[in-house]
Amino acid sequence: MSSHTKKNISAIDLRDRDPSLPPLIAEPQNTIAVLQKYDFQFKKQFGQNFLIDLHVLGKIAASADLKEDDLCLEIGPGIGSLTQIMAERTKKVVAVEIDDRLISILNENLAAYPNVDLVHADFMSLDLAAFFKEHGLDRPVKVVANLPYYITTPIIMGLFESGVPLSMVVVMVQEEVAQRMQAKPGSKEYGALSLAVQYYAEPYLAAHVPKNCFIPRPNVGSAVIRLTRREKPPVRTANEKLMFSLIRASFGQRRKTLVNSLSGSPQLSFSKEEVTEALHDIGLDEKVRGEALDLEAFARLADRLNKKGPLFG
Ligand code: SAM
Repeated sequence: MSSHTKKNISAIDLRDRDPSLPPLIAEPQNTIAVLQKYDFQFKKQFGQNFLIDLHVLGKIAASADLKEDDLCLEIGPGIGSLTQIMAERTKKVVAVEIDDRLISILNENLAAYPNVDLVHADFMSLDLAAFFKEHGLDRPVKVVANLPYYITTPIIMGLFESGVPLSMVVVMVQEEVAQRMQAKPGSKEYGALSLAVQYYAEPYLAAHVPKNCFIPRPNVGSAVIRLTRREKPPVRTANEKLMFSLIRASFGQRRKTLVNSLSGSPQLSFSKEEVTEALHDIGLDEKVRGEALDLEAFARLADRLNKKGPLFG
């Protein structure tokens, strides 16, 4: 099986390992054997597409630059294909899986790896700060996962916004979502997700991953994206909450001008005149659309509108 990779992180050769270690779960014949042994039926609603491509897994491991002392968090370990690779290379892997049928499979598949802390939970229901403490994730963690695509954005934004210690997030996501995360102003993929991700992290598209690298094949193309946590945001604003409200409102209806989107937003309380004046004050035309503004421009606009009074919603 092949993968089309972009840019220049070389995949780690996963076959080059101690022969006394357990077989690699991700080898297609081993994955199939596990699925047959447990008569496992995939659940679509959990976004279950298991990775069976060693080159892609080697690329994920290389992108995350896994080190002996690393603390890792995995969301959705499946049958443990990626978990095994992390467990062999790092200090500890905390893996959160929602599907109870996978818990007994994981316990068996990963029995040789005492550094895996397996948690049966819905990741979306966790109080992340408490969870990190409880599981000894007390210094910057690497989040490495082949994510369930139906909750990609809330997982990533939840991690960044919660303020838990993170050094990077290396995740398999839908190709289109990866493009949006790294998009620049003016492109058609550019939007609220690009700005939110780029406020917290530096994105790097590490690999394009074709459908045949998974079982079952997903309906969409995938990509591995690495988000390196910034030490501090690239822009400063007096009102971060207002800045993100402006960003969300600006891309709510893409074809509208910024003046119309912001003055028409039920979450905001600015008149057309106030928005027009604020745009002029920061050197922008009143016909401008959200997609033309970078983070710096949104920060300036937030600072300018912040002086206009309280934010509603
Ligand atoms: N990591 C495995 C691999 O690469 O083969 C499986 C990846 S599969 C795309 C996504 C996994 O996330 C599945 O195991 C699924 O059951 C799990 N999952 C889905 N929703 C979840 C949630 N809310 N919390 C935790 N795990 C979840």
